[in-house]
Amino acid sequence: MKAKLIDGKALSAKIRAQISLDAARFERSRGRKAGLAVILSGDDPASQIYVRNKIAACGECGIKSFAYYPPGDAPESELIGLIEGLNADKNVDGILVQLPLPRGFCEPRVLKAVSPQKDVDGFHAENAGNLLLGNDCLAPCTPSGVVELIKSTGEPIEGKRAVVIGRSNIVGKPAAVMLLAENATVTVCHSRTRDLPALTRSADILVVAVGKKEFVRGDMIKPGAIVIDVGMNRENGKLYGDVEFAEAQNVAGHITPVPGGVGPMTITMLLKNTLKAAEKNG
Ligand code: NAP
Repeated sequence: MKAKLIDGKALSAKIRAQISLDAARFERSRGRKAGLAVILSGDDPASQIYVRNKIAACGECGIKSFAYYPPGDAPESELIGLIEGLNADKNVDGILVQLPLPRGFCEPRVLKAVSPQKDVDGFHAENAGNLLLGNDCLAPCTPSGVVELIKSTGEPIEGKRAVVIGRSNIVGKPAAVMLLAENATVTVCHSRTRDLPALTRSADILVVAVGKKEFVRGDMIKPGAIVIDVGMNRENGKLYGDVEFAEAQNVAGHITPVPGGVGPMTITMLLKNTLKAAEKNG
């Protein structure tokens, strides 16, 4: 039997409908829209698409967006100055610095400049630390979307064996922490992991964030598993996941497509974080 498709677009639409209602309520009570500042430095084509999509999604949900396009060769101090100005701006509730930054910028230093209260990407050390400690925080969007997608299957997470491939600060590590918080038993795999297929074949929940086209094959998946494909690999204008979809669909119980799985949920969680920050910022 073929795996059930986990439809990230449909789930996003449902959550965004609620976000629109919450954004309208915020506007009525505060006399202004919740605001998200998006900074894109340089001219990376994929980043331009992501930023366009994020700005469009804000508009659709009644969140005001402020877009900034500083040149990629401007000094880092200028970018940090822009962020500090936005930190102090009462109309800006969230600040997103689109990554990757052009060469020459120190990403950790730039991300540290974003006020933790406006850090809607959840990349600031304060938010990362609070996530680890189980405290309320602005959590990173992609792994938050991953957890929502898993929950949308209706299958309980508690007690399940979850395997996350990838240990980046923006996807793999926070996804593992969030699944642990949901009481899964979590294994994190990376490029030095030995006998990866044996581990992935033990996973009731498999989250793949490797960044390699069709890296996970059907024979690496446990029959009936929930497979969440975070990968976004562009080749000749086409988007591929980290999972070989056709093979995986014959083995898994539930699977996300690429595109149309994790991608739309990432933006939806960004909108949710913006409203959460707005409610707190007043
Ligand atoms: P990343 O920083 O490059 O991390 C990749 C991870 O994969 C690393 O931890 C690496 O291990 C591990 N890895 C590499 N080769 C491996 C191998 N042969 N076996 C096991 N593990 C291996 O990537 P990322 O930022 O987490 O992104 C991962 C993917 O998700 C990319 O395709 C990215 O485009 C996509 N993504 C999608 C969204 C979305 O909204 N859909 C958002 C963010 C990212 P080491 O740590 O040992 O190097």
